Amino acid sequence: MSLRTGIGTVRRRMLSQFLSRRVTLGNAGPIVSFSFDDFPRTAFTVAAPILQGFGARGTYYVTPGLMDTVNNLGEQYCLRDLQDLVEQGHELASHTHSHLSCREVPFHSFREDARRGRQAIFDQVGIADSGNFAYPYGDVTLRAKQALGLEMLSCRGTTPGINGPEVDLNLLHANSLYGDMAQLAAVERLIVENETRKGWLVFYTHDVCSRPSRFGCTPVLFEAAVSFAAQGKAKIVTVADALAKLEVQAKLEPANGVSGSAGDFSSDFQNQVHPDCQR
Ligand SMILES: [Zn+2]
Repeated sequence: MSLRTGIGTVRRRMLSQFLSRRVTLGNAGPIVSFSFDDFPRTAFTVAAPILQGFGARGTYYVTPGLMDTVNNLGEQYCLRDLQDLVEQGHELASHTHSHLSCREVPFHSFREDARRGRQAIFDQVGIADSGNFAYPYGDVTLRAKQALGLEMLSCRGTTPGINGPEVDLNLLHANSLYGDMAQLAAVERLIVENETRKGWLVFYTHDVCSRPSRFGCTPVLFEAAVSFAAQGKAKIVTVADALAKLEVQAKLEPANGVSGSAGDFSSDFQNQVHPDCQR
């Protein structure tokens, strides 16, 4: 193991162990959630119909600053995609405004950008996001984990693994769903392991197209993964619906500092604190 790899392992372990906000999965599992980050248009235009074909919905971690842009993942979402996504029952979650890494900018800038992202989602579609958040690049610091844990219903990283029997709402495990059918066997193993452990398995990807970026997957892999999960014992639900099953209702603080309709956020969330969610 190289020094760099070793430091990364220690960092991930520390981030997992400290400043957690734990809830018990209880009998809610097995659950599988499919999520999309940023998000490229194909995550909606291609992947959403596949999920819906199995009666399922996805969680979209939206980065408003990327709307109407094109990058290495292809065309990013447009306003109409967001509107259709909400209308079709998918989940709007947040992913900062400008896709900043909390390890590369001052903490206050990161927190402000996370709040600005939520505000922009509200401004774009007229409804608040779900309160669920994903860290861009999967980068997390203890300071960000502590502070955003107070503002978000849940925060998701990119550390692989199965959530449960205890779930850390401040840093959900998530597994990449990248590549083509060569990855299916590994995906199926995860789904089976999740069933055995009665856990909560969260997948994330980006573009879903026949020639995906290295951060995306092909439609055939995506459909095969959803199909395999649907044939098993797990329920396929959004992150928000999974948390509803766990009766997670806490949003410990409204997003203070968000300009404009910050009050709309707080009014859309129940401020009561579930006993399991207290530190
Ligand atoms: Zn991202």
